[in-house]
Amino acid sequence: LARLRERLARTRGGLGGGLAALLRGRGVDEEVLEEIEARLLLADVGVTATTELVDALRRSRPRSGDEVVAVLRERMLEILAPCARPLEIPDEAHPFTILTVGVNGVGKTTTIGKLARRLRDEGLGVLLAAGDTFRAAAVEQLQAWGERNGVPVVAQGTGADAASVIHDAMTAAKARGIDVVVADTAGRLHTKHNLMEELRKIRRVMARLDPGAPHEVLLVLDATTGQNALAQARRFHDAVGVTGIALTKLDGTARGGIVLAIARELALPIRFIGIGEGAEDLRPFDAEAFVDAILD
Ligand code: GDP
Repeated sequence: LARLRERLARTRGGLGGGLAALLRGRGVDEEVLEEIEARLLLADVGVTATTELVDALRRSRPRSGDEVVAVLRERMLEILAPCARPLEIPDEAHPFTILTVGVNGVGKTTTIGKLARRLRDEGLGVLLAAGDTFRAAAVEQLQAWGERNGVPVVAQGTGADAASVIHDAMTAAKARGIDVVVADTAGRLHTKHNLMEELRKIRRVMARLDPGAPHEVLLVLDATTGQNALAQARRFHDAVGVTGIALTKLDGTARGGIVLAIARELALPIRFIGIGEGAEDLRPFDAEAFVDAILD
């Protein structure tokens, strides 16, 4: 919790951390409410959620900074709690398959590494599929990570068919009794190859091997890209049906309010948040811990 607080310091500074100072010695007047509204918008909470939060403040007529924080906490939790649904891996799925999607640079490969480590530490057998066959560096990065951590990686050469790599990985996992397959995919949006088409094909191939697969379509989003992350989410969700979100780089931004915008606008489970580059910095999303870390 202390680490979460420390890593979210920039967001807290813009939001809650400044509230006490803002309110010291003043009543909660219209000017103060407007200042709070401006701060929420600056933190990327988004227009819809911000309007709801400020309306709730107006209705509750808080008289002190403490009351403002209490109302914000309660309302933020109402927005976030439905999205705080951790990734659960049931025993029946063999292997459980996670298709990881997202635009280049969002932290997809890093997130796959951290997630694999987390699953391995929980005692699960993990296998990675190097499905970003477009970038040579992506395959190498995944292989290097697998070697360091003793996690097998199924890969083919650059330019190979991603669906075929993931197909091989699922087949190998089944043969070896592995519990979870985490598949990487390409993240290039602006080339003549249609990424969404490729992802749909991967889905079809996976479903042919196991009607339940992919069990999770995990979309990785970069918190520092703000409203752009929302646009990416809509695009991927329309194309392949996202079942969970990993939101990275919350430590590098004062715009951590994007978590609220995502919860409010997308209503998709937020499985994990990334608060740093270390293996332990991928955390299951906990709504209460998050709200406390940005408001207190
Ligand atoms: P990809 O292109 O989506 O696979 O992106 P990478 O996994 O290569 O990550 C891009 C950069 O973001 C790397 O330098 C990562 O260390 C960094 N990164 C990923 N997640 C986080 C995070 O939660 N916090 C911070 N500060 N950096 C992160």
